[in-house]
This record gives sequence, structure tokens and C-alpha cells, in this order.
Amino acid sequence: MNLTSKDLIELENQYGAHNYHPLPVVLDRGEGAFVWDIEGRKYFDFLSAYSAVNQGHSHPRILDALVKQSQKLTLTSRAFYNSELGKYEKYITELFGYEKVLPMNTGAEAVETAIKIARKWGYEKKGIPSGEAKILVCSGNFHGRTTTIISFSNDEDARNNFNPYTSGFITVEYNDVESLRLAIEKNKDTICGFLVEPIQGEAGVNVPDEGYLSACYEICKANNVLFIADEIQTGIARTGKMLAVDHENLKPDMLILGKALSGGVYPVSAVLANDEIMDVIKPGQHGSTYGGNPLACAVAIEALEVVIDENLAEKAENLGKIFRSEIEKMIPEFSFLKSVRGKGLLNAVLINDTPESSTAWDLCVEMMNNGLLAKPTHGNIIRFAPPLVISEADLHAAIEVLRLSFMNFKK
Ligand SMILES: *Cc1c(COP(=O)(O)O)cnc(C)c1O
Repeated sequence: MNLTSKDLIELENQYGAHNYHPLPVVLDRGEGAFVWDIEGRKYFDFLSAYSAVNQGHSHPRILDALVKQSQKLTLTSRAFYNSELGKYEKYITELFGYEKVLPMNTGAEAVETAIKIARKWGYEKKGIPSGEAKILVCSGNFHGRTTTIISFSNDEDARNNFNPYTSGFITVEYNDVESLRLAIEKNKDTICGFLVEPIQGEAGVNVPDEGYLSACYEICKANNVLFIADEIQTGIARTGKMLAVDHENLKPDMLILGKALSGGVYPVSAVLANDEIMDVIKPGQHGSTYGGNPLACAVAIEALEVVIDENLAEKAENLGKIFRSEIEKMIPEFSFLKSVRGKGLLNAVLINDTPESSTAWDLCVEMMNNGLLAKPTHGNIIRFAPPLVISEADLHAAIEVLRLSFMNFKK
């Protein structure tokens, strides 16, 4: 029996925990910048699984690496060495310019890893008194869903009734250098790290002022505080450079990667740092059964090579300019459009309504009906982040779908 979209949605509703609120479309196949639903309707994918699919759906080279490695060896655990891990570690550390990598699986795990390393470094290298290490985080942050990470979120949905919370985090205002400076001045001797998203994706593609990250970096350097960049969403060419921090030529003390590190075919995440920092972790002090498995390593190398070989950073930069300028032209035509912002192909359109309204959602439903998938980050913000492999012609076609959707919406 062939199940319809309706049947499949009912199955998820009945048997799955309701921890998401998906658009009512059931995807069955993907290729490049496109996905198809179970009834065969084709859509532009303008979410890219929250920027995990930068290389496009079903990239043949990444799939080939996955299939080949899966037929050979998939998981050994780290109780033994495996023939892929060392090659991957050499490749990724050289590519990003760090001495060491610590491989994990999901983004949240990599963030947890960075938090643990920062604290341990704080005690063992900076000399913070036991139990007093603090990490600065930003208002509006999104770093994942573990109990520790949601402890320093300021999204009530993410936090509420998941207490008691992990302590040791201080929130500073995002895009406010003085806020960081004050917090560090107050707690100079106990702060080990500053955890920051170079652009806040989940918060609605909040792009900080030019120079913000560099100024924060300088303050961290001057006070022996680790600058920790969460590039899980902004990294791997999404914003028009390999890393978003490359726009300001910064080298974080710790770099957190995930999502597109595997091109969306397998969960792969990583923390990169130099020996001075990474060496605080000794055998038995951190790990993951699947972290650094040979399948993940083979997939990640190929996924990164695709980004380089296909010049995806440059593509994102150029196509992003086209996207923003075309949307700018539409803003005066449609009263519900407020503005567009972003970098590379990580963009958001702001809607003239409240964060609690359903306007962004209703617009996304209209776009879906016209063949383009995107998701609101708030009631008044829609993120647009297609796979970076999208062609210029397809981008223009997608923009026409947006125009049509805006026109229908106005009626
Ligand atoms: C998605 C995301 C995470 C969490 O990654 P998961 O793989 O969902 O655990 C952390 N930080 C940022 C900036 C993200 O966008």
C-alpha cells in the first residue's frame, strides 16, 4: 500500500514525540538544491536542514565515499585505531590551521566538548580556583539542546521546566563589545572562555556589526580568555567564506564545526584547537562511541573537498548578493516585508509583524504551496538558506516563486 502525505503525517503525529512543528510536507527524495515530496512534487529547499546540506542533497561524491567506506568498516570505537581517523585528523587540522581536532557526532556534543575543554583549561592552565570557572555566552544564543546548553539559553521554550540548570555561565549582550568588556573586568580571574556564534542563525540571522568579533577577540586575548566560535551553522562556506570568522580574519582559540561538515549525510561534528588547549584532555576524560568512526571520517573528508573543489564559498558570496538585492527590490512592493539581512547564503527576511504572530508561518505555507520550502525562526522572521550548489538560474527561479507567493499572500 502506498502511503500518502496525509497518512505519513498522521503516523508521525501518533507515534513520534511532538518536539517539532514541521510544515505539512513529507519529503521523500533530494538532489542538489531540490527535494521532492512523496506525491512527486518538486520544491526548492531553502532551509538545507539548517545549513547541513551546503553541498546539496545526495551529492554523488559524498554518497560514493559513504557507500565505499560502509562496505569496508563503519565503527570500531576508539578502543582501537582505525585506518580513516588519522587521515581525517591530518586533513581537517591542516585545512583549518589547528594542531588538533576532537571528533564528535552532533553539534550539541561538540559544544559540550568545547565547554569541558575550556573549563579544564581554565583550571589547569589559567589557574582558576576549583569550581569557579565561568564561560561568557551571548543573549539570543543557540548552541543545542543538552541540559547544560539550555541552561544558558534565553529562549523560554528551550529552558522551561528542564531545571535545575548548570551554573557557570554569564550572559553578555550580543553585538555589544562593552557588555563583554564589563563582564570580563568583573570576573577577570575566573572567566575561561567566551562562546559566540559569528552570526546568530536560530535567533533570526543576527549579523553583528563589522568589527564586533575582532573587538571581542582582542579583549579575550588581553585577559587570557578563550575565544570559542560556534560555526556549526555559519561554517563550511555558508556565509561566503570557509568560516564566518574569516570575514574578520580571526583565528578562534577553539572552533566548533558540525552540520555541513558531512554534507548532510551523516552526523559529524568537531572541535579544533591547538595543543596548548587540547592537551588538557587525557585518555578517559572525554569521548563518544561513534566519535571519529571511519564512516564519519571518510564522509567528512569528501564533504570538505567538495566545498573546496566546487568553490562553494565564492558561490555563496556571489549568490547571496543577488538574493539580497532582489529581495530589496520587492520590499517596497509588499507592505508586510520589512527588510532582508544576512551574509553569503545565510539570509533572513523580516516581516512587519510581532515575533508572536503567525505571519511568517503563513507565508512559509504559501511558499510551500508554490514550491519553495523555508522555515520561520520567529513569527516575524524567515530564514533563507539554500544549498550552496544552487545555480544562478535556479536562484532567480526561486526568487520568482517568492514573488508569486508574496503576491498571493497580499490578496
Ligand atoms: C544546529 C546548531 C547547534 C546544534 O547542533 P545539533 O547537531 O542539532 O546538536 C549548535 N550550534 C549552532 C550554532 C547550531 O546552528
